[in-house]
Amino acid sequence: MPFFLQWIKKKQIGFAANRERPSLPTQEQIQGSILGAACGDALGMATEGLNRQKIQESYGWVADYRKPVHRTKNAGQWTDDTEQMLLLTEALIEAKGFEFQTYYIKMLEFARKFINQEIPNRGYGPTSKKAFQNLVVGISPSGVYSPSCGAAMKIAPLGLFYADNPPETICQVVRECALLTHSHPESISGACAIAVAVAVATRPNVPIAEIITAGIEAADSIEGGIAPHLKIMLSKVQNSNTALQKVLKAGFSAKATVGICFGILARFANYKEAVEQAINFGGDTDSYASMIGSILGAKEGIACIPARWLEGLEAKDRIQALATQLYRARLP
Ligand SMILES: [Mg+2]
Repeated sequence: MPFFLQWIKKKQIGFAANRERPSLPTQEQIQGSILGAACGDALGMATEGLNRQKIQESYGWVADYRKPVHRTKNAGQWTDDTEQMLLLTEALIEAKGFEFQTYYIKMLEFARKFINQEIPNRGYGPTSKKAFQNLVVGISPSGVYSPSCGAAMKIAPLGLFYADNPPETICQVVRECALLTHSHPESISGACAIAVAVAVATRPNVPIAEIITAGIEAADSIEGGIAPHLKIMLSKVQNSNTALQKVLKAGFSAKATVGICFGILARFANYKEAVEQAINFGGDTDSYASMIGSILGAKEGIACIPARWLEGLEAKDRIQALATQLYRARLP
């Protein structure tokens, strides 16, 4: 039996009623998660949408910010993943928690600017674009039925803010947040997996296997979600030494991106190594790296992020200040 199924059976990670309430994440962990995600996103910006072979031909092994060969952006700039994560962070700070109306107003304001081309398009997929249109013209519900990863890629701040809550509570808030733009169960399930993985990662000395298992359980709480795929994929990663590229299929869906995120984490638990694997993988590299960065940054804190990655990140000071405000908003 794969190790993660044993965990689920024996330990009932996170969902056991008698489990002690976890403590709040530290400021270093919240900064590590938000900046870790942003750095991963900006590193993956140069390779997003290219396959592994094209990445190697264009850059060799990517281990730093690069000017992309296929888009008009500068090295160190981040994409839609970070833009949406920061919007959610601002909404959480403003309302001192997830309050639908606050988030809705923020998203509506953003969607108007996006549709009117008052802000640059940082690489949104068709699902998000359609959801922004729905918001602006007042179509309700605005969420689009597509199994994409747009809800999972931005969700880390919810996991951080509600880290001391049971996974069931985190998943309820995730669902409410995700539905504004994404209504497909696979999309919501992927977001639950990442939010709960981030929350569990903030617990002291937590093993990576426990984080992954908790993420899969959270994904499993959504009917029609991605948990069956995650379990099969992880058993392949765990039960062979085959290269990850042969086991995991690159893609842009919640299934593919969260699967690759957990697959890489199962083999690489070091922030720098795991992010490098993600940005060189091919496909939706910025989203894999952003999710991985949010989880390992939450686990290890800001100190795990290489200094040159922090220094080269677009708007690093603003992002760090927002992370600090999120930490303060959660204090009693
Ligand atoms: Mg992106």
